[in-house]
Amino acid sequence: MASPPTTGPVMDTYARFPLQLVRGRGVWVWDSSGRRYLDCVAGIAVNTLGHSDRSLRRALGRQLGQLQHVSNLYRIAEQEQLAAAIAAKSCFERVFFCNSGAEANEAAIKLARKHGHGVRGIPAEEPPLIITAQASFHGRTLAAVSATGQPKYHQGFEPMVQGFRYFPFNDTAAFEALLAACEAPGPRVAAVLLEPLQGEGGVIPGDPAFFARVRQLCDQHGILLIFDEVQIGVGRSGRLWGYQQLGVEPDAITLAKGLGGGFPIGALAVKPAADLLRPGEHASTFGGNPMACRAGLTVLEQLERRALLPHVSRMGELLQQLLSELAARHSTLFEGSRGWGLLQGLVLRPGAGITAPELVKAAMAEGLLLVPAGPSVVRFVPPLVIQPRHLRHGVACLERAVQSLVAQA
Ligand code: PLP
Repeated sequence: MASPPTTGPVMDTYARFPLQLVRGRGVWVWDSSGRRYLDCVAGIAVNTLGHSDRSLRRALGRQLGQLQHVSNLYRIAEQEQLAAAIAAKSCFERVFFCNSGAEANEAAIKLARKHGHGVRGIPAEEPPLIITAQASFHGRTLAAVSATGQPKYHQGFEPMVQGFRYFPFNDTAAFEALLAACEAPGPRVAAVLLEPLQGEGGVIPGDPAFFARVRQLCDQHGILLIFDEVQIGVGRSGRLWGYQQLGVEPDAITLAKGLGGGFPIGALAVKPAADLLRPGEHASTFGGNPMACRAGLTVLEQLERRALLPHVSRMGELLQQLLSELAARHSTLFEGSRGWGLLQGLVLRPGAGITAPELVKAAMAEGLLLVPAGPSVVRFVPPLVIQPRHLRHGVACLERAVQSLVAQA
């Protein structure tokens, strides 16, 4: 028997909080009873410029009056402009647009397979292998969830798409051993797909030395290195792209979430060597539509115009300091904090006696929205426009939530 519906006619695919948000402005959101919350979830790393941002409202309003949707059968000026803007600000040259992170990873997986068969010469009857990390998260479509190195997301949906192999993130020896085993019969590995910082898996930053070695091995074998920057990309780390934090350039990246600032968009950006998809091989009706691309262009423009990248670095340092101080004040509960820029995780100790979802719920009661990253990490992913006073307010709310949980225990 299915569990009783909690959301009327909407399918029960989410364990939702009984909270309905009806309005947002900047870093604040209001529920249906008029109560205000500091939003340190931002649609899970989506609302780059905050809620109801004026520049985004104006740009999308104008775009709606000019051209809302046309088919990819024709050239789309906004799409070409956004691709040019991404290329000008990154190491990539060309971009394919879609609508979400999972869909961007689907495009990357198809690209990897084409590279595997066409460039590496993997026999047609063999699935080109794609190496991904344990605890990774790449989305919920069948290939993206197969790429995701977390068995809990596979359960009930087997068989997974063939050809994925997993290893412990940041573990150079394990990666080298897996690569050697996969390649023993001859060329078999098409790509390595990694998040520069694992978001859903527990806010785990990539180790630059590990990533440098992966890059070296991919170059030696002619394997594509693809970064999933769906969560960390577009300024969240304090650099425009997560790969800049690592000092390692991938052959391709996937983007979504923050690129549209709240308007759905996904993208796969490639260097010339990975520019392999040809007419008819991949497509999306809505991908790169004028509204979504106008949103992406506005987000990129505003990041620059408002000097948001150095701001994110400063706010990230402050948030990390405030969280470390909080962790030190409650050292029996917390190990500390970790992350890059405005993607920070507060890490619970194994024997803390409280879980991340419990802490998120208690924080909500104090007027602060947060999101867990696994059972023992509470994640802050606020709009990039957040100010020091908001961060201090948020950490004070969190401290009250901690105290209320301790008092109940
Ligand atoms: N990749 C990463 C790193 C993500 O964090 C997510 C979503 O959380 C996805 C892919 C999937 O994105 P979407 O939910 O837009 O399909």
